[in-house]
Amino acid sequence: MSTDLTTYDGLLAAINDPAGREITDPATGDVIGRTHEGTVADIDAAVSAAVAAQPAWASRPVAERNDLLNKAADAIEASAEALAQLLSREAGKPLNGPNARFEVGACAAWLRANAAFVLEPEVLVDEDGTHAELVYDPVGVVGAVGPWNWPMMITVWQLAPALKMGNAVVVKPSEYTPLSVQGLIAVINQVLPADVLSVVAGDGAVGAALTDHDDVDKIMFTGSTKTGQAIMRSAADNLARLTLELGGNDAGIVLEDADPKAIATDLFWGAFINTGQTCAAMKRLYVPESLYQEVCDALVEVAAQMPMGVGLDENNVLGPLQNKQQYDIVARLVQAAKDGGATVLVGGDPQEGQSGYFYPTTIVADIDNDNPLVVEEQFGPALPIIKYTDLDQAITWANELEVGLGSSVWGSDLDEAKRVAARLEAGSTWINKHGAIDPRVPFGGVKKSGYGLEFGLEGLKQVSVPHVISW
Ligand code: NAD
Repeated sequence: MSTDLTTYDGLLAAINDPAGREITDPATGDVIGRTHEGTVADIDAAVSAAVAAQPAWASRPVAERNDLLNKAADAIEASAEALAQLLSREAGKPLNGPNARFEVGACAAWLRANAAFVLEPEVLVDEDGTHAELVYDPVGVVGAVGPWNWPMMITVWQLAPALKMGNAVVVKPSEYTPLSVQGLIAVINQVLPADVLSVVAGDGAVGAALTDHDDVDKIMFTGSTKTGQAIMRSAADNLARLTLELGGNDAGIVLEDADPKAIATDLFWGAFINTGQTCAAMKRLYVPESLYQEVCDALVEVAAQMPMGVGLDENNVLGPLQNKQQYDIVARLVQAAKDGGATVLVGGDPQEGQSGYFYPTTIVADIDNDNPLVVEEQFGPALPIIKYTDLDQAITWANELEVGLGSSVWGSDLDEAKRVAARLEAGSTWINKHGAIDPRVPFGGVKKSGYGLEFGLEGLKQVSVPHVISW
């Protein structure tokens, strides 16, 4: 029976398994559907089917694969509202603001951008009768394992370049947000040949069955550093190639010449995008003493204008934490800030007995740089603002953690901001913005935030194997 995937009911009917595991809305606790829980045997079957389907997919001209990526983007756009409603219910994120509708739009945009990229052979040597060229061949089967915070968008980051380069892809979504990814893949698979792209939901053990699999040639993993380390160990057996996008604790540094009022809204969204549940969100903000009060006041003023609530309410731009585990982490870290004598400027006081995992927008001042809210990844709506008197000290603080995903510098003099940016240890440093990703611009982490790059031509190379041809 085929269903209409452009309607919410049709989309849910296509992926709902009446015998599956219940999935609830983190804002209300309401059951939204049931996910089919995969097994190790399902992973084996999906990988075997991918191995069988991949050569024919790779042998198509790249223009045909590009055309299908664009058709997949068309299909997402046709189902955009249904996908956004599903994502909003399952992840808790509001429809509006930089949330569910934005995420679905980004899925289509990433597919189109990947379709448009042209990865030419690189001429390495062409003189005195010696010729060498570097071309990029498909890897084979790509295993894509993702987190719950941007489940659809991150899945597309993984599958779009992989499919373009002629690989088959098996996706294992987070156990917290399987329906969103199953829905997304049902929509995309309306246009792709069978078995080139499949999804098997399940827990970490099912993820491990995929990443340990001998026939998986490349693993695209986005999630915590701890899981990334486990995957790296298990990838040794078949030397599977890895891209690891792991946790972060991004610093923002405000410079003396910044205009607090002018930057406040961008600072806010740099930290609170997706209610703070974003890998490259600003998770600690360093502000010079001379601007400290003004920046704190401006941020509190912006925070007061940002409604938090149930995702399907069109007014809201902030939502609940996606799960209890993450709620508990945020609550523990804000408590640690209070215990350490910090000042809670706004929030910090969740209502007892409320339904849903809502933690109020929280801004914390006068906090020590070694407080747990600063040094651990909160991954939620609680921003610590640390005062500094010496820029070198602020840069040292920004760099001293084990992670290095994103970072940002805020000021009026671009040259000075660039000089500070060059001193930060991170895969990306933004100036007067934070977390502004672009499908054309490579993105990845350093230190324990992982390695490998996604997006742009560099991203295509990482789902390929280099092949030198000389004559
Ligand atoms: P997680 O590591 O707990 O889970 C991620 C995925 O790995 C899930 O699908 C899970 O089922 C699977 N998994 C668990 N154990 C596994 C194993 N042994 N082998 C294979 N797969 C396994 O992470 P999470 O809590 O879902 O995500 C939050 C974390 O992800 C945060 O630290 C955040 O910073 C990070 N993150 C990073 C990026 C980035 O681009 N760098 C983006 C989003 C999130």
